[in-house]
Formats: sequence, C-alpha cells, structure tokens
Amino acid sequence: MMDSKQRIANALKVASDTKVFEMGGGVSSLAPEVFKGLFPGRKAKVIADINTWPALGEKVFSLFQEAGIPTEKFIIWEKEFHAEWEYVEMVDKELDGGYIAVSVGSGVINDLCKLCSHHHNQQYLTLPTAASVDGYSSFGASISYQNSKQTFSCPAPVAIIADIDVIAAAPKEMTAAGYADLAAKVPAGAEWMVADLMGTAPIKPDAWHVLQDYLDDLLANPEGVAAGDPGAVADLFEGLTLSGIAMQAAQSSRPASCCDHLFSHILDMTHHRYQGKLQSHGFQVAIGTLTMCAVFDELFKMDLTKLDVDACVKAWPTLEQEQQRAVEIFKDFPAPTLGYDNITKKYNDAATVGEQLARFRDTWPEFKEKLQGQVYPFRKMQDLFKAAGAPYDPSMIGVTREQLRDMFPIVQLMRHRMNVLDLAKRGMFYDTLVEGVFARGGAWEI
Ligand SMILES: [Zn+2]
Repeated sequence: MMDSKQRIANALKVASDTKVFEMGGGVSSLAPEVFKGLFPGRKAKVIADINTWPALGEKVFSLFQEAGIPTEKFIIWEKEFHAEWEYVEMVDKELDGGYIAVSVGSGVINDLCKLCSHHHNQQYLTLPTAASVDGYSSFGASISYQNSKQTFSCPAPVAIIADIDVIAAAPKEMTAAGYADLAAKVPAGAEWMVADLMGTAPIKPDAWHVLQDYLDDLLANPEGVAAGDPGAVADLFEGLTLSGIAMQAAQSSRPASCCDHLFSHILDMTHHRYQGKLQSHGFQVAIGTLTMCAVFDELFKMDLTKLDVDACVKAWPTLEQEQQRAVEIFKDFPAPTLGYDNITKKYNDAATVGEQLARFRDTWPEFKEKLQGQVYPFRKMQDLFKAAGAPYDPSMIGVTREQLRDMFPIVQLMRHRMNVLDLAKRGMFYDTLVEGVFARGGAWEI
C-alpha cells in the first residue's frame, strides 16, 4: 500500500479547494506560517468552543500573536450546541471587518466557519481537535435550517492542520464516532454502485478511488482507535480527510453518505435525545451504517435474475400517487413537504423503471458479487464497532428497533439521491427486504 504522504499528495490533486494538508504530532505550530503564506496581511479570528479553546485554541491564539498576525478570538461558551442557524448568524458577524476564520474545533465549529467563510467569499484554515467526522475536508456544511438538516454548498478549507497529539487525546467517544463515520463509506459506496447501475448517479472515478481503494485498510485497526493509539488515530483521520476530498472531487456528498446517514438526519430533525443528551453524528451514523449492512445482507438473499420486470412496470405508481404517499408518510414529520419535494425530484417514469430493473436482472450474479466485495456483512461491521467503542445496537443511542423500523419509509423518500430502498420499491421487494432486517434471525430481530 502507498504510504500516507503519497495518498494525501495524490488526493490533493483531485481536491477542488484544499491546497495544504499537514498531519502529525505537534504540527499546530506550523499554523501561523501557513496562514501568512495563504493570507498575507490579513487579520485572523480564532473560533473555538468551550472544549476546544483549552485543548488547542488558546495555544493557536498565542502562536498567531507571537508571529505578529493581528488576531482576535470568538469562543462559543455554551456547553451543548449543534449546527443551528442562529450560530451561523453569530459567526457571520464575527467575520465582518475582514477577518479570516481560523477554525479550532470539531465538526460543528468547522461547519460554521466553512459556511460563514463562504458567505464572506473567502477561504479559511482549520485545525481539527478530534477525528470525529469527515466534514473537515468536505465540500458543503451540514446545518439545521427551518427544521430540516440541510447540506449547504460551500468550499472546503484551503488548509487543514491536523495535530495528532491533540486529536489522539480527544475524548474516546469522539474518536469512536469518527470511526463509524468512516465506516459509513462502506455501505454508502455500495449504494453509489446501485445508483450507478440505475443510471442516475454515475460513479466518478477520481472521487471513488481517492478513498475506496484504501478504505478497508484504514478501518482495519478498531482496537488501536479505541486505545487512542496515535498511529491508528492518524490512519482514521487520514481516512476521514480522504472522504472529504472525495466529496470535493464529486462536488457532492454522494461518495460519503447515503441511507446510512439519513437515519441520523431524522434523529437530528426530531431533536432525539438519550439520557438527556443529543447523540453525536458518528454515533447516530453507526446505527444507520449497521442497519444498511443488514439491508444488504437481506438483498443478497434475493435472486434478482428472477425479477418480473413487466409486472413491476405495470404496478409502478404514477408521480401523483408517489407524491400522495410521501405527503401521508411525512404528515407528522418536522419537515412535512420533504418527502414530496424529493420524490418529485427523483421519480422515474414506468418505462425508465423497466430499463433500470432489466439491468439489475441481467447483470445480477456479477453485480451481486461486486456489491459483496464492497459492503461488509452486518456481523463483521458490528464486531468492528464493538472493538472501536462505537454503538453496536440502537438501544445504545436510545432508539428502539421498532422506531428504527418506522424510520424506513422516511429514509427512502427524504432525499433525492437514489438509494437501495428505491431499487427495492421498483422491484417490488421492499417489504421483504425491510421485514427481513427485523424478522426472527434478522440483524435487528424484534
Ligand atoms: Zn458523516
């Protein structure tokens, strides 16, 4: 396998926004020089929160001052905050007056700096404090706006300075969460393959290879991740960075997320709490990832060479029927038009559905083998999560199996991205597929 430096160098070639990536013990001391090189003569604003200010922000602030860069700070002192719009407005104000954001923090701080820098039509620099998400290097920011978790288009940071001394010392749950966010790329990749064969989202080779070629290796040391071993955490952080760069190369989050992430979005949008606390992105994604591995386990039990394509085409609903179904499913959801809007975008007419299904029927044995080479069986993924310290049962984030089952219709419809559940709907095996996950002997047996 290529070494980390080579992989990163290759990745930066396909990255649209990120030009500098430094990773290693103590590299935060490089931040002032990098800043001066990218933003000569500009003022800096170090943006941190209650946890990341003492962990790294304070040090970065002093380093910048010592280097003669005019520097101010903005610290969000609240104990618990999420990526809500009110914070976007706050950080936007902080950048007024010509400041360049120096993000010191994990997912939320970085997403705020990313979107607000975009609003100011400028680039920014990020110093991650935990290997908790892949959003450091990704194109787009995930923010709750008008009751709906949305991904806003905005460029990735121009420079990422990942001090492994700091990142490896982050709370264990954050590193475990990042492990699950990286593992989500396993079923997400398989769903991209499905959408590719469907003809709705062709695989972009640059975006695929930059991460997927190394994904299995970078997930191979969950014990090291749990122990906070610097080498294992560096591998994890690299994987998360490559995932973000894959999104830059695709100009979309397709390479990094599909249904695995949608369970988490539902929990965000319904303000789900467990033991009084909001659950982290990665912990929620862990359950979505396991669930999708279970869905693929069920899919592999089916013989799609026997698909009765004509019958499926005859039974295929009209757009109006699908819109009506979406209205019904989403009527008590915080964003009641979400399903309607997305099914309207991703609806295919009966003739197209016939062509799509015929491709699955005609290539199933080979295509199934390819999918099996991509996705992990549920039990394997569950063992990895156990070793990494990530949740491996929905009860561990306060979700019952019944609740998880009830999320499926929403998951299928809440995004216009084509997913494996859309394939199941088209092929009239959706009920069998989903029921299998919760049936006796299924992954989440009820
Ligand atoms: Zn994620």
